[in-house]
Amino acid sequence: MKTDIQIAQEAELQPIREVAASLGISEDDLELYGKYKAKLSSGFMNEIKDREDGKLVLVTAINPTPAGEGKTTTSIGLAQGLTKLGKKTVAALREPSLGPCFGIKGGAAGGGYAQVVPMEDLNLHFTGDFHAITSANNLLAAMIDNHIQQGNALRIDTRDIVWKRCLDMNDRALRNIVVGLGRKVDGVVREDHFVITVASEIMAILCLANDMEDLKKRLGKIIVAYNMDKEPVTAAELNAVGAMAALLKDALKPNLIQTLEHTPAFVHGGPFANIAHGCNSVQATKMALKLSDITVTEAGFGADLGAEKFLDIKCPMAGLSPDAVVLVATVRALKYNGGVSKEDLGREDIDALSRGIVNLEKHISNLKQYGVPVVVTLNRFVTDTEAELDFIKHFCEERDCDFALSEVWEKGGDGGIELGKAVLRTLETKKSEYRPLYSYEDTSIEEKIETIATKIYGADNVIYAPAAARQKKQLTELGYGNLPVCMAKNQYSLSDDPKKLGRPENFDITIREIYVNAGAGFVVALTGDIMTMPGLPKKPAAEGIDVNEDGEITGLF
Ligand code: ADP
Ligand code: MG
Repeated sequence: MKTDIQIAQEAELQPIREVAASLGISEDDLELYGKYKAKLSSGFMNEIKDREDGKLVLVTAINPTPAGEGKTTTSIGLAQGLTKLGKKTVAALREPSLGPCFGIKGGAAGGGYAQVVPMEDLNLHFTGDFHAITSANNLLAAMIDNHIQQGNALRIDTRDIVWKRCLDMNDRALRNIVVGLGRKVDGVVREDHFVITVASEIMAILCLANDMEDLKKRLGKIIVAYNMDKEPVTAAELNAVGAMAALLKDALKPNLIQTLEHTPAFVHGGPFANIAHGCNSVQATKMALKLSDITVTEAGFGADLGAEKFLDIKCPMAGLSPDAVVLVATVRALKYNGGVSKEDLGREDIDALSRGIVNLEKHISNLKQYGVPVVVTLNRFVTDTEAELDFIKHFCEERDCDFALSEVWEKGGDGGIELGKAVLRTLETKKSEYRPLYSYEDTSIEEKIETIATKIYGADNVIYAPAAARQKKQLTELGYGNLPVCMAKNQYSLSDDPKKLGRPENFDITIREIYVNAGAGFVVALTGDIMTMPGLPKKPAAEGIDVNEDGEITGLF
């Protein structure tokens, strides 16, 4: 069997000019990054803004195994399948982070015959967006420390600096550090921290910004620290906004690449869904909607994280309204949720399946709360048996839930036709009555967290650690109570304990810390011991990656 990277390297790519032309985009509107990647020039959205939007389909999943359940693969395969069915389709996806790429997961460009290409570029530096975000983030950090060094006119409390440096790498050694050691000229000594770039507020801001003006407005609102009177100090007060925006000028423009079957794909922005809001950029999604009959987009991790944030943060903020949700399940993840260990997932086990399927059931009923029609798809692995597939199909049919088998990993667009037809049938016959789970304005931070914890996770109560209770009060007093809440939670369990699989019951959610991302426009609530700077596993994927003299890369998957 060929590896993902072999399939990707053997693919015949179309020049990106031609892919763009298939959407009616002229070369004048493209900024080429070589032959197969392009950004859309900043004036382009203005040219098409009066066009009607196509349909918006979100791809999400049940709680995953550590390997991922194939949402990206399914999104790409569905876009390929819909293209085969004669629909003008665009995929709108996130850019991968280098962290998981060198950690456990390998790349994130889809898999098998449902991939976006050039996959090595996408997985490694792509068009440099993440470097630009990292630079803008760290420029602000440097300006904070310099401001303090130069006399601290803003009276920043050095014990209350909330802005963290960032790096797009899994590097646990940087979680807690001390900066400013050395002589007087080497800065003021203080404790500092790194987050991974995809958890940085700049990433969220870039993804939620409508245009350059909005980007700057949001950058200005970033709270970097509190002063001696416990009042927020912002990036605008440090005069950092212009320079940060200049660094982000090109990163703000959506990237265009293609699937293995030349379906256009906007791949832009990439916040994680467990520690950030988990969706690709608003600009790319909006552009895709203007250019297509159907836009297929993905939100990260399980539907309790990515889809919840897509439906409660991204859509309301951007004025988007999804028409359907595709919920990806795998036999493997259902067995994993039924308590089977990672090593034994390849063996037929109907018992485990029937224990784990409560996880799927919970996600179906969760999504129904948003009023958006749901199609369940089973992403087929070669190890799945007929008995296992039948079991899941039956389960969905008994609950009157649309179901389609997806074989896009093995067969590309052809394997996505059944799913494509199911999605089209849903779009044609079921009207979306999308509504977010809570209102931003008339509910407190506490009520929002409780709504998500009880209605989505299935928790009984929310418990606040003393620090979190204090922060909740303080943020409300500062006027941030009307912002949505971005939950930071592990991706394996509906609860805040990654070991409670399936459909946990009789549990509480503990909130450890609450802070505001005023520029992004949400309050972040950290549950359990979720970390904003991941570490590498015992045997990192990086050990298997190589490049030869011709520049051919191996070991990405
Ligand atoms: P997600 O987006 O849910 O995290 P991905 O689509 O990135 O998941 O897939 C994770 C990994 O699983 C990829 O390496 C991909 O090649 C592999 N994969 C996905 N679907 C299948 C399948 N049906 N059979 C085998 N491998 C698959
Ligand atoms: Mg993915």
